[in-house]
Amino acid sequence: MAGRLQGKRVFVSAAGQGIGRAAAIMMAKEGADVLATDLHADKLRGLEGMEIAPLDVMDDAALKDALERGGPFDAMFNCAGFVHQNDALSCTDAEWEFGFGLNVRAMWKAMQAALPAMLERGRGSIVNMSSAASSIKGAPNRFLYGATKAAVIGMTRAAAADVVTKGVRVNCICPGTVETPSWEERVAANAAQAGGMAAARAAFVARQAMGRLAQPEEIAALVTYLCSEESAFVTGQAIVIDGGWTL
Ligand code: NAD
Repeated sequence: MAGRLQGKRVFVSAAGQGIGRAAAIMMAKEGADVLATDLHADKLRGLEGMEIAPLDVMDDAALKDALERGGPFDAMFNCAGFVHQNDALSCTDAEWEFGFGLNVRAMWKAMQAALPAMLERGRGSIVNMSSAASSIKGAPNRFLYGATKAAVIGMTRAAAADVVTKGVRVNCICPGTVETPSWEERVAANAAQAGGMAAARAAFVARQAMGRLAQPEEIAALVTYLCSEESAFVTGQAIVIDGGWTL
């Protein structure tokens, strides 16, 4: 049986680990011709059945080149992002610049590079990575992060409105906490204050209504759906996938 993404060329950023990696693997299994990219080339090792390439999404020229020469793409998953842990008082100018540069500006630049080919062909699906910690939920110690991910939602909805009659869809996804390598780093960073690794872990789990974190594959399934024709009537949405965190 043909996969749901058979014949589709799909771009994925931050495919080296976590949600991006799980999405690249799932979409390749569904028949997509995936270009899996990441800042760190070594993290792309082991990705089978797809094209891999190092890419810093903050490098405008490299991003444009990857999307123009590697395309045309039927779908793209803009996954790259960074989680700063700060509040309005502790956030620095440098963090602000970097956070908006990676989480928002690079996503805009990716859309800007991929959209012309999509519009020319009259088809395409763009999936942007937002978060439940955004305009949807105020999470402690996520001041800059929440601001950037809220911007992703606004940018996604506006971009979708501009292309809604042209066969191109733009959506974003808003996960709750997902068990990924960078989450492990956040646990370690909170350990001293929380009273150890186990307590820091438990604090993250406790805020999840289901009493567990998401696995990257659960988020990848939503990305795969949005990149496929199954979601042909879905555009401009910020889809929450958070185990009930925002209930
Ligand atoms: P992660 O944070 O563990 O890994 C991020 C990946 O991005 C790494 O492979 C890294 O090399 C790559 N990367 C970093 N900077 C890059 C750049 N400039 N260009 C290209 N690649 C770069 O993965 P994750 O936790 O799955 O997070 C991925 C995305 O999901 C992020 O946008 C994050 O904000 C979002 N998100 C994560 C969670 C969570 O709980 N893990 C929840 C909601 C949203």
